[in-house]
Amino acid sequence: MAAKRDYYEVLGVSKTSSPDEIKKQYRKLALKFHPDRNKSSEAGEHFKEISEAYAVLSDPEKKQIYDQHGHAGVDGRYTSDDIFQGARGDFSDIFGRSGGGFDNIFESIFGRSGGGFGYSQQRGSDILYETSVKLEDVLHGKKMEIDLQKQIQCDICNGSGCKPGTNKKTCTTCNGQGQVRQSRNMGFASFVTATPCSACRGQGSIIETPCSECNGQGKKKGTKKITFDIPPGIDSGDYTVPEEGNEIPGGVNGDLIVRVRVQPHTQFNRDGKDIFYDQDVSMVDAALGCEVVVPTLEGTEKIKVDSGSQPNTIIKLKGKGVPHINSRGKGDQYVRIVVNIPQKLNKHQKSLLDEFQKTSD
Ligand SMILES: [Zn+2]
Ligand SMILES: [Zn+2]
Repeated sequence: MAAKRDYYEVLGVSKTSSPDEIKKQYRKLALKFHPDRNKSSEAGEHFKEISEAYAVLSDPEKKQIYDQHGHAGVDGRYTSDDIFQGARGDFSDIFGRSGGGFDNIFESIFGRSGGGFGYSQQRGSDILYETSVKLEDVLHGKKMEIDLQKQIQCDICNGSGCKPGTNKKTCTTCNGQGQVRQSRNMGFASFVTATPCSACRGQGSIIETPCSECNGQGKKKGTKKITFDIPPGIDSGDYTVPEEGNEIPGGVNGDLIVRVRVQPHTQFNRDGKDIFYDQDVSMVDAALGCEVVVPTLEGTEKIKVDSGSQPNTIIKLKGKGVPHINSRGKGDQYVRIVVNIPQKLNKHQKSLLDEFQKTSD
């Protein structure tokens, strides 16, 4: 699944850092990795990473979604454009006075690298796939294989949209640029506005003879077999399988968002990596002590109930919980002793208890 770094880790701040601290830290890192100052080859990538992290964490709404649902939550709701445009004022504020406006910087990084966050490359839309797993699956994880209906690249024209044997023609209006640019200077910053070319609808080229399979779209509806792993220790929530969403010719595929629901169990309750189980024990067994066999997710376990055990005594079965998704080791199973008091007594039992009462006075 996704290997995107944690935003807090990227900026070196914590969940409780104030907006000011986050801004200060971003400013510090941004000036260090600013492509105008730092000529190392990784600087541009790193600058993108910290800028994306800052754009999300500086926006209360996006930050809350990130805190609750992680990258999948943010990526599922916002395009990269949404993320950056939201923080645009802040970026101008930070960079406006230190040379180079928002557009300049981002233009130079995203424009030159020919990709990035939707500035020059199209991205297919995400697909939501809902599934549910048993608590037992949380223990070992599960391999999933699904037939996903989605937009796929046309296999007849390989996504070009041209009838096989023909080619696209470069758009003469924009000379193949796909956009018309204007730049103007405003104080410290220079703003570049780029509008898509209307003649080629931003494509930079024109299809003269369209592929008949996809009508020149380069894409069509289809089904693809997709395999992914539900990792051990998974909780209910959204998980991203990168680039398995809708395909877009010449662009970046959308993501597949897998919404996992862990089904409630009839016997066990789960809290994180720990499992909770209630074991009924008779009043007499609790008083005299006994051995009981309790179910676990992996089988059964024999436990000893000490004589004189009180109601709600907890017995811990070490390592009988589920794995933790982000670290090693497993949780525990907690067995709660529920002492059953008889609700009906026959005459004989009643006299025995009366007798017992007298002896314990
Ligand atoms: Zn086609
Ligand atoms: Zn054009």
